[in-house]
Amino acid sequence: MSSLRIHFSAGERIFSEGDSPTTAFLIEVGEVEISTVQRGRRIVLSHLTSGDLLGEMAVIDDAPRTATAIAISDCMLFPIDRAQITERFSKTDPIIRSLLEGQLKRYRGALAAMQGREEVHGDDTPSEQLGIGKIRLETHLREALASDGLDVRYQPLLHVASGKIAGYEALVRWTHPERGPVSPMEFVALAEETSLIVPIGEYVFDTACKAVSRLIASGADPKPFIAVNVSARQLGHPGLIERIVARVDAAGLPRGSLKVEITESQALDYVVVAGVIDLCHRHGIQVALDDFGTGYSHLAHLHHLAFDTLKVDQAFSRVMLTDPRAMAIVEAIVRMAKALGADIVVEGIETEEMLSALRVLGCDYGQGYLIGKPQTLDELLAAR
Ligand code: C2E
Ligand code: MG
Ligand code: MG
Repeated sequence: MSSLRIHFSAGERIFSEGDSPTTAFLIEVGEVEISTVQRGRRIVLSHLTSGDLLGEMAVIDDAPRTATAIAISDCMLFPIDRAQITERFSKTDPIIRSLLEGQLKRYRGALAAMQGREEVHGDDTPSEQLGIGKIRLETHLREALASDGLDVRYQPLLHVASGKIAGYEALVRWTHPERGPVSPMEFVALAEETSLIVPIGEYVFDTACKAVSRLIASGADPKPFIAVNVSARQLGHPGLIERIVARVDAAGLPRGSLKVEITESQALDYVVVAGVIDLCHRHGIQVALDDFGTGYSHLAHLHHLAFDTLKVDQAFSRVMLTDPRAMAIVEAIVRMAKALGADIVVEGIETEEMLSALRVLGCDYGQGYLIGKPQTLDELLAAR
């Protein structure tokens, strides 16, 4: 342990302006003076003491030291290896990284101006470009939400035994003015990083509620439902279920007209999910666990969740006809769902062979390109 500490005597230099950075330091004991030379005059920038970091800036952006550090009392420092910092830095959110890199650039520029030097401006680093790209995309997404630029498609769910369309899944769509269609995998994930997913979810619920009214009014038999995807971040937002109920009631629809699909993910807090499911049931709303088998599949938690439907992820249906082990897992999931009194939907049904397999397995519902691609409401109504 003691070998990890470095002693500097009072007056000793820790590093000098212009040195290349290898290490940052945490001051355990002592006081350090940070100074720079401005037009031949030494200027003290700061005094650092126990608990302060020094030398981290040059380590973050891998540029020469901008100042000199001198121990002004006997010091004990913990060296922090460059890799320790850069590894963490590379794992942080690109937006945070680009904000930090931008600040460092500005600080170096201000320091250079103060010292009467000209600062050489490098190109933006890849992480800055990535971060700025994300900020820009998020801004465009907010704009799209505010200006009617989002859209919802509906993908049919087939009731396997009757061969009838039982309902639809609402899938949000965004066509970026320059990039064209952006995958929901990308923009939903981006929106989930902030609370932007909450108003997007509200928009999808609103739109789906109007759509289900029109489908029912058009005489669809059986009366269809629309299932709306809800992510972990939305679940934590108070009033979500109450607002869904209020919309359904205001439209004069049966409570079961909207369903909720919760995507299984590591981010899910099963206590929150159990509470949401309970609340949904008190209001007559059914809940599906989506992408089952790809997320937490925490069997120890599963019995706490009184879900109505399990949606088996495409990852299984894609290979179940060629891989007996995948088929065995699907069979086990079907048996488990039945034993728990839940319905089964298998996603990603693309061929007749897959649909036949669902019949043999006794699955309740199938969803996939064979049954229907996600369509606009007008397309659905026109096809009736
Ligand atoms: P998901 O809820 O599992 O939705 C099913 C995805 O599989 C959809 O992708 C659908 O277009 C695609 N799909 C359906 N049938 C087939 C098939 O036969 N083959 C293949 N290869 N794919 C099929 P999409 O629309 O790109 O959505 C991706 C994910 O984005 C959704 O996965 C869902 O998790 C999320 N998402 C979509 N809309 C919303 C939304 O309004 N709110 C939230 N929170 N998430 C959403
Ligand atoms: Mg879904
Ligand atoms: Mg899914």
